[in-house]
Amino acid sequence: MNIPLKTLEPAPLVDPFGRAITYIRVSVTDRCDFRCVYCMSEDMNFLPKQDLLTLEELDRLCSAFVARGTRKIRITGGEPLVRRGIMTLFRSLSRHLESGALEEVTVTTNGSQLAKHAKELADCGVKRINVSLDTLDEDKFKAITRWGDLGKVLAGIDAAQEAGLTIKINAVALKGVNEDEVPRLVEWAHGRGMDMTFIEVMPLGDIEAARVDQYWPLTQLKASLLERFTMEDIDYQTGGPARYVRVKETGGRLGFITPMTHNFCEGCNRVRVTCTGTLYMCLGQEDAADLRAPLRASPTDELLNDVIERAIARKPKGHDFVIDRTTKQPAIGRHMSVTGG
Ligand code: SAM
Ligand code: SF4
Repeated sequence: MNIPLKTLEPAPLVDPFGRAITYIRVSVTDRCDFRCVYCMSEDMNFLPKQDLLTLEELDRLCSAFVARGTRKIRITGGEPLVRRGIMTLFRSLSRHLESGALEEVTVTTNGSQLAKHAKELADCGVKRINVSLDTLDEDKFKAITRWGDLGKVLAGIDAAQEAGLTIKINAVALKGVNEDEVPRLVEWAHGRGMDMTFIEVMPLGDIEAARVDQYWPLTQLKASLLERFTMEDIDYQTGGPARYVRVKETGGRLGFITPMTHNFCEGCNRVRVTCTGTLYMCLGQEDAADLRAPLRASPTDELLNDVIERAIARKPKGHDFVIDRTTKQPAIGRHMSVTGG
């Protein structure tokens, strides 16, 4: 009997805990035009450029994941929009949006280059972006980012909204730094029609400051917001780790990402790829797989798929971050700017 030949769809990626991997976060550079105090040390050593995946390799890698069921790609860094020629990658990934294979391409950015790129991002099918902004106070902004210019970021946010992009503002909760500003940030973001999310500092990479001096648990941040606002639980999910409420007074959505006080791993659907093609199955664990070698070893994707499959089969159940006075070493040696936030 003749069995008709049919192209078999590759099986989607499912980890040992039954979690389907449908989301990849891709760091396209470890470089940045800021030096945020919780993210980088002031004199960071960056990777030699030749170690980075080319834009074509990044596209091939993303496309291999799309072929295995990835529905959402977040481009991050370092600062993704400082990578030379980065719009080429957005342009080429847009074919997967047009074909319906991908639901979403999103970006996490510090906003410094948005005025230049917002319109083209929207043209490439990007609909939502995250902008990281921890304060609206110019001096504090300088103190936190060391090299950043608040005016440029605000102009970038204006340009992104004009281009029709939906923005979520992400702010890291920093003890003694933006504590007093939290209600103002919420009112400002919601007043401009933007969702807002607070994030707990994570112990990633060596920085000058002690983590414990930066760490402000969101339980405390939330308690302080409750003195001012009424929060209503809502059933809103973005597939990410944030838990959302609606602030009654502003009508806006407010998210909390609490890796330290509440472990968010059980619903994890994502993996991360660095700009050198290292696949991390968990933000908070060291285990990784090199995807650059199989990418470069063969023009077809069999080898690459094989390495990806074996890596997903090792995805751990969760992270085990700790911040306390006795833990002097970062829980994870690599900086957030390497793994991609
Ligand atoms: N440069 C872009 C930006 O700042 O949005 C993208 C990369 S950045 C590493 C991504 C996110 O990680 C930012 O929102 C930043 O605030 C956050 N981040 C960096 N280091 C962190 C840390 N140690 N703990 C928690 N969040 C961190
Ligand atoms: Fe750069 Fe983003 Fe890290 Fe700040 S948080 S130093 S903007 S990568």
